[in-house]
Amino acid sequence: MLDVDFFRRWLRAAAAAVEREAGRLTELDSAIGDADHGSNLQRGFRAVTAALESEPPETPGATLILAGRQLISTVGGASGPLYGTLLRRTGKALGDSAEVTAEQLAEALGAGVAAVAQLGGAKAGDKTMIDALEPAVAALGTSFAAAATAADEGAVATVPLLARKGRASYLGERSIGHQDPGATSSALLIAALAATAG
Ligand code: ADP
Ligand code: MG
Ligand code: MG
Repeated sequence: MLDVDFFRRWLRAAAAAVEREAGRLTELDSAIGDADHGSNLQRGFRAVTAALESEPPETPGATLILAGRQLISTVGGASGPLYGTLLRRTGKALGDSAEVTAEQLAEALGAGVAAVAQLGGAKAGDKTMIDALEPAVAALGTSFAAAATAADEGAVATVPLLARKGRASYLGERSIGHQDPGATSSALLIAALAATAG
């Protein structure tokens, strides 16, 4: 069973990964965006970490809802509302149980990813975070490790794609040949989840 401590550790691991990889995320965003994805997520996840310290929620669901709210209110870029929606919707789907199963988390994350797709209007193959998140959710039925691998492969598979959503879509054909920054950060979040599950 996954308790509130598991979810706190996941978010802290995600925040640490964002700190470690911020430079790379911003570099990817400088190729097909506006060079702020790493700093956007750094600001957001620092706020998440601070909120978890100052007002630690008592359930898995409330933990993800608090984190999502922080991302929405502190990240200026498109990724803030999208990741905020992912965590809030996933948190809501978990309800107020003190512990959840891996199966419940997989189902809740599925609802979270569907909410991201609805908010941003992106489908698989549009070269966005959806390209890492959807395969990850599909593989969660197998294991956390399989989800991390699927997210990573999904992020790498965005390289040859033409961007159809977000800032990168303004580049048209010139978006081809670069890995999507949001798909890359999504792979970091899922890797942090797998590492937390150990
Ligand atoms: P901004 O583009 O506003 O500067 P960020 O650089 O923080 O925001 O995030 C860019 C990432 O957000 C993209 O790489 C992409 O993965 C994701 N993204 C942008 N628009 C959408 C969308 N409509 N649906 C899903 N993901 C999107
Ligand atoms: Mg950007
Ligand atoms: Mg921006």
